[in-house]
Amino acid sequence: MSDPTRMTAAALADALAAGDLSAEDVTHAHLERIRDVDEQVGAYLHVAEESALAEARAVDERRAKGETLHRLAGVPIAVKDVMTSTGMPTTAGSKMLEGWVPPYDSTVVTRLKAAGMPILGKTNMDEFAMGSSTEHSAFGPTRNPWDLDRIPGGSGGGSSAAVASWQAPLATGTDTGGSIRQPAAVTGSVGVKPTYGGVSRHGLIAMASSLDQAGPCARTVLDTALLHEAMAGHDPFDSTSIDQPVPDVVGAAERGDVAGMRIGIVRELTGEGFAPQVQARFDEAVAHLVDAGAEVVEVSCPNFVHALGAYYLIMPSEASSNLARFDAMRYGLRVGPDGVDAPSAEQVMAASRDAGFGEEVKRRIILGTYALSSGYYDAYYGTAQKVRRLIADDFAAAFGSADVLISPTAPTTAFPLGERTTDPMAMYRGDIATIPANLAGVPGMSLPSGLAEDGLPAGFQILAPAMADDRLYTVGAALEARLVSAWGGHLLQQAPELAITKGA
Ligand code: GLN
Repeated sequence: MSDPTRMTAAALADALAAGDLSAEDVTHAHLERIRDVDEQVGAYLHVAEESALAEARAVDERRAKGETLHRLAGVPIAVKDVMTSTGMPTTAGSKMLEGWVPPYDSTVVTRLKAAGMPILGKTNMDEFAMGSSTEHSAFGPTRNPWDLDRIPGGSGGGSSAAVASWQAPLATGTDTGGSIRQPAAVTGSVGVKPTYGGVSRHGLIAMASSLDQAGPCARTVLDTALLHEAMAGHDPFDSTSIDQPVPDVVGAAERGDVAGMRIGIVRELTGEGFAPQVQARFDEAVAHLVDAGAEVVEVSCPNFVHALGAYYLIMPSEASSNLARFDAMRYGLRVGPDGVDAPSAEQVMAASRDAGFGEEVKRRIILGTYALSSGYYDAYYGTAQKVRRLIADDFAAAFGSADVLISPTAPTTAFPLGERTTDPMAMYRGDIATIPANLAGVPGMSLPSGLAEDGLPAGFQILAPAMADDRLYTVGAALEARLVSAWGGHLLQQAPELAITKGA
């Protein structure tokens, strides 16, 4: 039997069901891998060794008794540290929540536990999911397994780096403006932002509630579908959760037939502004889809050029309101102001926020508070909401002439650590292709299109109409099959081997 850390989740599930591997062995192998390489990568903020092994043993016992189990029972998973989980900390990458152990599980975590998936630990992220590089984590950056001096994407860089460095077969993410798709793109992995409302937000530490969406991260399209199915579905604890059957994402990933499908290239999200080396891989992937029988057309979404402006008003506005709960009174960090004997509640609040929030979070709270203030609300937030409507209309028109839309996921490959930390605008501009989907609530996938000339992975994005998440998987699986056969194996097999720092 091959090394369990190098197997897909689908293959692990089959081997577990056939009794060729035990869940304990599979979990143990991943924990060992984490011990060996995570000192270099920094994907995990917390490793839950004991509870993961206990869950794995419980699954093995239930299987031995002949119980019918979930397909992913015994397949371990890493959870982004923005999802509440009992028995282990949830920090959202912030000092504000350092050491906080939540009193309840998020619905996503409840579902993973119900499926019998051992939780390996919690993954690093930009503080409160604000960023595209994981450099804004209060606990230090995560590094890209392809080049340890480069970013793994963000905000969910811990999850993408964990799956790309064989430290977990599956991981969860959240995507408010690209935090699942862009990390997938720059690490050579696969990530999906489901339709808004497709996966429960209950127990997710909120960034921008009208944009936040949880979703799956994995190494293959089928694995991503298996996790998507396990996470998704109606939840009465989330008022925006969609009460409809989950699209058949697994069936779509298994079939992957694009013959006769109409695929629209978004003119505004290609060409100018996208690195030629990323564009080249995109163009080749399009040729594969044509070869597979798809009909490729060009569509125009003229209002997408305003997406960044609208997003960077709506997101901070909602975030400033959501983060007001961190008031040092109920939970989270509390510090007193220096040199004050009997500080007022307000002084404690101010001192705690000053000490607990990082620079990027403060920047967005200030921006959002300003945009929502009386006299400016209509000019900023109101205008941004109108632009949001226009973007949704652009999608509706484009989906009239194409079943799915495509673009590169991000304009560049992984950039060096530190390159954009002092230039927030440069960081924000990288979100140009992922943000429109969040503004309109439609689902999107990123999968690797190949290695660019710099030897780093480039991402290919697929977008579908709301509640047609299955189309992402149909197209993704068809493209993946052709690319993997052209590469002679999975792209991640070409990634440099990480040095083993600690013998097991
Ligand atoms: N990079 C985007 C931002 O900084 C998206 C973040 C996210 O999706 N959580 O806002």
